[in-house]
Amino acid sequence: MTSGEQLHARPLATRIVDHAAIARNIERLRPSSGAGIMVVVKADGFGHGMLDVARTAVAIGAEWLGVATVDEALALRAAGIDAPVLCWLADPWTRLTDAVAATVTISCANIETLRAVADAARITGSTAQVHLELDTGMARGGAERARWAELCAAAAHLEAVEVTGIWSHLALAADPDPLSTTAQREAFEHGVALARKSGLTPRVLHLANSAAALDHEQTWFDLVRCGAGVYGIETVSDRVHGLEPTMRVVSRATQVRRVAAGSGVSYNHAYVTERETTLVLVPVGYGDGVPRGLSHGGQVVIDGVRHPIVGAISMDQLVVDVGNAPVRLGAEVVLLGSPRAGEPDAQEWADVTGTIAHEILTGLGGRMAREHINQVGTASS
Ligand SMILES: *Cc1c(COP(=O)(O)O)cnc(C)c1O
Repeated sequence: MTSGEQLHARPLATRIVDHAAIARNIERLRPSSGAGIMVVVKADGFGHGMLDVARTAVAIGAEWLGVATVDEALALRAAGIDAPVLCWLADPWTRLTDAVAATVTISCANIETLRAVADAARITGSTAQVHLELDTGMARGGAERARWAELCAAAAHLEAVEVTGIWSHLALAADPDPLSTTAQREAFEHGVALARKSGLTPRVLHLANSAAALDHEQTWFDLVRCGAGVYGIETVSDRVHGLEPTMRVVSRATQVRRVAAGSGVSYNHAYVTERETTLVLVPVGYGDGVPRGLSHGGQVVIDGVRHPIVGAISMDQLVVDVGNAPVRLGAEVVLLGSPRAGEPDAQEWADVTGTIAHEILTGLGGRMAREHINQVGTASS
């Protein structure tokens, strides 16, 4: 044993990212019309590892990668990923010169950002590729409809800028009632027509997110932008589209103890044992993104059996009441897994804690390790 080498060391908790599942989800989201797919890898790939997911997406033929920030886009380029990348949270104070030099496509929703991008293009001696964003009814990002013509006209006059795409974002794509989505699509088409009248010649029109990629064919245009679905989140309803969970979170029984009836567990004794029972200590907590809200109603799987999380979840640890189950020290504790195997998934955590699975997945981390399995098309293969 060399210095620093440990006999049995392994991480207390690990997020296991399944790239085969990610690849299958991307294939399920891919429009049958021949439109392309942009795999959204923002927020560290919804917690799965931005670069790893991006490599898988590119390896299986995703046409585009999508990120929120300029820094995320530049991190993709720094890792040698040269697929088309769109970032949609640029403003005049972001690293626009670096972004243009790195051939990142930049979304613009106002004239100030557009001009800053043009300045960056002049500095780099190149032409900036821009996608203009129109607000078609979400009132989040995007140019207001009243200012769209002005933005298009400015873009048409700026020589250092080439508008290669126009896009918008849907507010209610997961709503079974397609009325709002139809209205947004019509506003989008109207905006595109106006842009063409200004002399712009966008080649890539895009509107759909995952929910729309699955359920609203009339929103597909040239490209669909998919995040949630890639990571197995089905916003529409109960896994009717066959998307698979892509992340498994496991830890282990770090302490197993027998306690008497009437034992108050964890801070504030929010849980008191009703009978003599076995308590298992699991070394993860809200500091690792396991929501404190799982203290009431959260469950884990040990040796194939579900057991309740009991007492207040701490920053670093939580307690599971396993009754009389013969759990061994070191036994694997499945926090997130496959619902098909009876294990909780991010949606179940979200339901228990009153949020959405997106927030659960992006919140996981802290001290958890990450392991990638079934990777495709890596440099070594
Ligand atoms: C996050 C995001 C997406 C991905 O949406 P999903 O519903 O996760 O598929 C697409 N477009 C934009 C602008 C986004 O911010």
